[in-house]
Amino acid sequence: MTARVLDGKAIALQIRHEVQAEVAKVIERTGKSPCLAAVLVGEDPASQVYVRNKELACQKAGISSQLFRLAAETTTEELLVLVNRLNEDPSIHGILVQLPLPKQIDERKVLDAVSPAKDVDAFAPENVGLMSQGRPRFLPCTPHGVMQLLHREGIATEGKEVVVIGRSDIVGKPLVSMLLQKSGPCGESNANATVTCVHSRTPNLPEIARRADILIVAIGKAHFVTADMVKPGAVVIDVGINRLGEGIVGDVDYAGVREIASAITPVPGGVGPLTIAMLLRNTLEAFRAANP
Ligand code: NAD
Repeated sequence: MTARVLDGKAIALQIRHEVQAEVAKVIERTGKSPCLAAVLVGEDPASQVYVRNKELACQKAGISSQLFRLAAETTTEELLVLVNRLNEDPSIHGILVQLPLPKQIDERKVLDAVSPAKDVDAFAPENVGLMSQGRPRFLPCTPHGVMQLLHREGIATEGKEVVVIGRSDIVGKPLVSMLLQKSGPCGESNANATVTCVHSRTPNLPEIARRADILIVAIGKAHFVTADMVKPGAVVIDVGINRLGEGIVGDVDYAGVREIASAITPVPGGVGPLTIAMLLRNTLEAFRAANP
């Protein structure tokens, strides 16, 4: 069997068009534009590319964006002053602090300072709590992108055995939480999974991975998941982004696994493009909440 390739790029574009149409409507209704503030500290090349891509995506969707660049030696206190100013500014609807932050900055303190109403990354404890109780204000962008991708490719999670590899606060844990709900971002078929999360301290990881109807991998280790860890016919979602000499690769050994899976996401062009699409959606939702 050669797996169907799940086209994240096309689905992201579809979502971006949907957001663009809704943005045009809210601008017409309110006479105001949604606005995302992006905060970039230091000169990390990958972060600069990410922020630039987010700005361009905003522009295409009709969302305004403002970039705040701070020097690499910025202190936690200086960054908190900016975050608080953005929290108070009614013309800013979403705040994005690009990670990673330089080592001297207390990342937790800065992320916790972002107003939950403008927390379009959905990192704030209040927003994490609301999501885990099944009444989200915002859904975290990458996990939400995975759920949209599955739904729009006709892959239900309801009643399926889903194994998530990785337990980070940004990807693994929120995915587990979303998959467990009674209703997901795209309804009941997009939730109600039987979920297992495995991680670096799981002794029998390959054995558990082989149980999965849907295997989702987010660990940041190139080619980690090999064909022998995948049940024949499983759906494999690769969230990993690893920069190697040969270019960007995922956490899945794509060439081997696509011979055994029924569907698979490529890297690049799979989950990646959805993250930005869902950030635009959250910025629109933040604007709507502020302009009912
Ligand atoms: P992280 O480093 O915060 O977490 C990695 C997780 O993987 C940890 O929970 C750890 O327990 C687990 N892990 C590490 N090594 C393991 C091993 N050998 N066996 C089992 N589990 C192991 O990473 P993250 O932020 O969750 O990101 C994971 C990957 O996803 C990275 O490659 C990152 O670049 C990528 N990512 C992609 C997007 C996107 O837009 N597509 C967004 C966020 C992260």
